[in-house]
This record gives sequence, structure tokens and C-alpha cells, in this order.
Amino acid sequence: MMHYTPAMVLDELPPERPPAGPGACTRVLTAVHEATAGFAVPAAGGERPHILPLVQSAAFDYPDAASADLAARGQGYLYSRVGNPTVEAFARVIAELEGGAGALAFASGMAAISAALLSRVRAGDRILAADGLYGTSHELLTGLLPRYGVETDFVDACDPSAVERALRPTTRVIYVETITNPLVRVPDLPRLAAVARAHDAALIVDNTFATPLLCRPLEHGATLSLHSASKYLSGHGDLIGGVVVGGDADLARVGEVLKIVGGMMDPFCAWLALRGVRTLALRVERQVASAQLIAATLAETPGITRVAYPGLRAHPDHEVAQRVLRAPGAMLAFDVGSLAAARRMYDRARLVRRAASLGEIDSLFTHPVSFSHRGVPAAERERTGITEGLLRLSVGIEDPTDLIDDLLQALNAAPGL
Ligand SMILES: *Cc1c(COP(=O)(O)O)cnc(C)c1O
Repeated sequence: MMHYTPAMVLDELPPERPPAGPGACTRVLTAVHEATAGFAVPAAGGERPHILPLVQSAAFDYPDAASADLAARGQGYLYSRVGNPTVEAFARVIAELEGGAGALAFASGMAAISAALLSRVRAGDRILAADGLYGTSHELLTGLLPRYGVETDFVDACDPSAVERALRPTTRVIYVETITNPLVRVPDLPRLAAVARAHDAALIVDNTFATPLLCRPLEHGATLSLHSASKYLSGHGDLIGGVVVGGDADLARVGEVLKIVGGMMDPFCAWLALRGVRTLALRVERQVASAQLIAATLAETPGITRVAYPGLRAHPDHEVAQRVLRAPGAMLAFDVGSLAAARRMYDRARLVRRAASLGEIDSLFTHPVSFSHRGVPAAERERTGITEGLLRLSVGIEDPTDLIDDLLQALNAAPGL
């Protein structure tokens, strides 16, 4: 096995918050235990299950009318579309990690995004959204919402003055992602929050790529933060889910949509997500450390023309990332110069899997031009830097030196092999 030393292209990471409290792994486990303790069923001697039971039940039985009355008044469980202990426990964990008053869990990231946006707009309102959003979010904004009289303007969210200029009197929401796909751009959330506040608009942030460990958008002034739980939060690629975090009043508006549209997370999904999230900090720490090493190595590898990673000084948002993110994340993209070279490297990878997701324990490759950005016109792709030779890597938990060996052998495999 070879040994790699990171090239001197990465700045030191900002130090962890002062050691005033427990570390990230401890915080995650404590959040899970606290969320669990509130719901567990005490047994005869006061013992509780160590792991929260899966409450896979549509409804709840009442011993009498008084008990049913309590549930009807919102002081007990009624029906699992409206509330379920396992689902609420998962949501509480994420609220705790994000520093929000509360959270709601959804059947998918898209259900979370739809409910968050629908909670803020009515016909005639406008949304101001970042260029380069997750593809299905873009479809929601351009394909579905206009049918109901809600139009969206798009803007380079990494240019706060452009965002200010793009606001219109009817703009109610600014919608951005903490780290974009695949070029890992990082908008200045505190500045966008100030712009939104001055305009009396909500700032809604898709925090999927950053995880609550690297960014807590509410602390930067966001109104709502949301995730696809299908990615880092659950981490094992075995479920589809979403979550929205926010203050009580903002979340109540989202809850009204959830209750009616019905995109709640299923209890079994929540139980799996609770299992996955226990190792969130451990996974992310490993993944970020590996991503830094890989980015630094690829940046110095002949045949690679460009590496997009916020930890590199050459990245356009390097300085913003140092303020907004606790670490530069575990997503990166790099250009191998041509369509043929990209497809060859994609094919030749052995450890890195070829799956259309991210944030899993396995490292995953996508080739944006072939998949996520297939429908984007070539001129538009080139303008936004989504070149034919670009590959996106979601760094997993494999040993970093093995990953680097795999990437280099895949890159250097002779054409036609
Ligand atoms: C995957 C993803 C979504 C959509 O989430 P689903 O769980 O697939 O519905 C939204 N935003 C980002 C950034 C994602 O990566």
C-alpha cells in the first residue's frame, strides 16, 4: 500500500468549537438517547428498551373517552400521519443536531422540500432560487409550482449582490443549497440571511451535502433547514427520507402542509434512520478527512485538469467555506479532460461504486453529463462548468489510501483495457 501525504494546498481547518461541551460523536449518541427516552414504554421495574421500539401502528387505542379527548387535543397520539413516536424521535435528533426548536420527518427529501416551499407561498408569490439546484428541486420550481401561480427566478447565489438585485416585491422565499452539486459551490449563508430578512422573505436551505455537523443553517439566520435523509443522515443507502428543521411558528406552517399532503416518514424508515444516524459523526469525520487527502492528491495528479473542492485554495468559495462550514465536506468533483476519459475512469473503478446517490458509507461515482445533467443543454452545461470530463465523487468510509490507489489505477488504465 502506498502512503500519500496531502499536498500543501489545503488551509488549516478552522478549529473545532472551543471544548466547552462534548464532541460530535458524543453529541449524536446523546441526542438519540434523549429523543428515545422521552418515548420509550416503561416496563414493570422501570426498565426501558435500550433501543426505541418501532411503533409500526397506524392508530393508537384509548382506554376511555377522556384519554381519546387528550389525543384529539394534541396531547397524545391519534393517527400516524399526524404523529408517531418513532418518527418523532428521529425528527428530534435532527432538530437537536441542527440547533432547531423542532423538526418534521418526511417520506423523502423531495417531500420535505415541497412542504417547506408550499408552507411559504401562495399564487402570485415568487421564489428566488440558486442556479445549479438538485435536479428534482429545479423541476418542482419550474415544472410544478408555476401551475399553481408560483414562479421562480434563478440567480448565482454565490454573488450576494446579484441576489439582492434579483429580488422582486413579491419574492417570499430565497432557496439555496449549502453545498451544490457537482461543483460544490458554497453560498454565503449569513449574507443571504441578512438579504432575506431585509426583504421580509424566508431563507430556506437544503443542507443535505453539509450535514448538521458541518453547517447549522439556522445559526446563520436561515428560516428553515432541510435534508434528504436518504444521504448522510441515514448513511447506509437503505432508505428514502427527509427532514425539515426550524423554529416553532415556521415549523407549524410546514406541519399544516405535511398533515394534508401526507408525505410523512414511515415508522420503519424512521427506525432505520435512527440506527444510521448514530454513526453520523464517526462517518462524516472519516469521510471529510479522506476527501481532503483525495482532493489534495488529485489536484497534483497529471491528467486531472481541475479539482472542485471547497478545501482547496483555488476553489472560488474557499474563503466563504471557511466561515460557513466547519469542514469542507466529503463531496468533490474533478475533470479528466474528455468524455471518453471520464467514462473510462468511471468504468475502471473497483472500490468506488457507480450509483446515483451520495453520502453513503460506500464511495460513489457519478458522471453528471451522463446522468444528473443529461437534460441540461450543452451550452448551459459548459457555461456553468459541468464539462464532459467531470466526475463527481462522494467519498465513503473505505481506507483513504485504498481509495486513492483505486482512483489512480482507474485514471491510468490504458484506453481500451
Ligand atoms: C437527494 C437529494 C434531494 C432529494 O432527496 P430524496 O430523498 O431523493 O427525495 C434533495 N436535495 C439534495 C441536495 C439531494 O442530494
